[in-house]
Amino acid sequence: MVLKEDTIVPIPNPLETALAQFDAAAEYLHLDEGMRSVLRVPKRELTVNFPVQMDDGSIQTYNGYRVQHNLARGPAKGGIRYHPSVSLDEVRALAMWMTWKCAVVNIPYGGAKGGVIVDPKKLSLPELENLSRRYATEISIIIGPNEDIPAPDMGTDGQIMAWFMDTISMHKGYTQTGVVTGKPVGVGGTLGRQEATGRGILYICQEVARQYSVPLEGADVAVQGFGKVGAVAANLLAQMGARIVALSDSSGGIYNPEGLDVASLLPYAGDRSPLVKAPGGDRITNAELLTLPVTFLIPAAMEGQITEANADQVRARFIVEGANGPTTARADAILNANHVIVVPDILSNAGGVIVSYFEWVQDLQFYFWEEAEVNERLQRALVRAYREVARLATEREVTLREAAMILGVGRVVEATTLRGIYP
Ligand code: NAD
Repeated sequence: MVLKEDTIVPIPNPLETALAQFDAAAEYLHLDEGMRSVLRVPKRELTVNFPVQMDDGSIQTYNGYRVQHNLARGPAKGGIRYHPSVSLDEVRALAMWMTWKCAVVNIPYGGAKGGVIVDPKKLSLPELENLSRRYATEISIIIGPNEDIPAPDMGTDGQIMAWFMDTISMHKGYTQTGVVTGKPVGVGGTLGRQEATGRGILYICQEVARQYSVPLEGADVAVQGFGKVGAVAANLLAQMGARIVALSDSSGGIYNPEGLDVASLLPYAGDRSPLVKAPGGDRITNAELLTLPVTFLIPAAMEGQITEANADQVRARFIVEGANGPTTARADAILNANHVIVVPDILSNAGGVIVSYFEWVQDLQFYFWEEAEVNERLQRALVRAYREVARLATEREVTLREAAMILGVGRVVEATTLRGIYP
């Protein structure tokens, strides 16, 4: 049987969400029109159309993008997505969110994102390598350790980052590990990177639990998306005693109010097998998962999942966003009115870029840290950022998303103002 993708709702244009969030922060910060016009648009956009030789000898042309939204605070940083629904507007939105994310957690990067319109599951390994090396070559004119440093995102992984690093290094004539992060440890990757985003979600849930005096142990959790972010977050939360009642991937999900045995489900992670075929729970759709009565809902799949169409039905007490842009601006307003507390993506999923930053620092220094040091530094960085955002939210009587945007956009505005307009 061929399983159909269980897409919940047509995905709204993520750029609309990103711009609505920015406009609200700009209003709050009383930014003048000039500054708004600088920050509303990406600094650079590269579109590449490139051929790939397939196993049967035929040639397929693929479309890809690399967008650098802002470089005011440092080199551009952001993942690369391989997915059939990649579009230029999606990459623009994701690049903009990277700018604010790096600023919120105060790492010295600007924001970027890349993507190729492809379903990587339909390619053989040699085809995936051909596509990755050619795309890396196409965007090599704007990436580099001091310029723009890609990383994995949906549909890409450490192996693809290794091919990227090797391709760029072959062109240079020497090994340049710092050009991408999320690499395997054997080629300049850092310990702790694979788990970093999911581990960061755990640290954020622990902070939320502390702030609102809700025990994490025994708390019901639903996780949408069972990939690099969702599977790690679910597994670590389960290890901390949380009860993971529902999990899903693009095939649909499974639900067990008594709790799922997450460790035994890990072989299904990363689309290795459809989760709907896993034992231990009843079938559930992605749409149903989002409206379960849980303490923590962790959307960790695609953007645009919680919209004005379903926000009113969300019964979670806290939403901790693992995905980028899973909640639209209109849904945010509904959730806020219903007293659902949303920890925004630019804060809660920043664990990945924080440890990517650690990887880059280690690559540039040719000196590598113990995993415990990586995790400790990650926890310190995220907890500090969470508390800063939470304090601002309380002081200004705004949501956590508004506070995170005020902090992130504010820091980028400060850097832009200090640098001035050249010439
Ligand atoms: P991944 O490719 O490893 O996993 C994605 C998961 O989502 C898979 O289980 C897939 O089946 C599922 N999925 C895809 N489409 C779906 C749909 N329509 N409905 C339900 N599930 C669906 O990707 P990832 O790296 O885990 O990224 C997930 C999200 O987290 C993305 O929004 C990404 O931008 C964001 N993110 C990732 C990182 C990182 O370090 N990987 C860091 C920050 C944010």
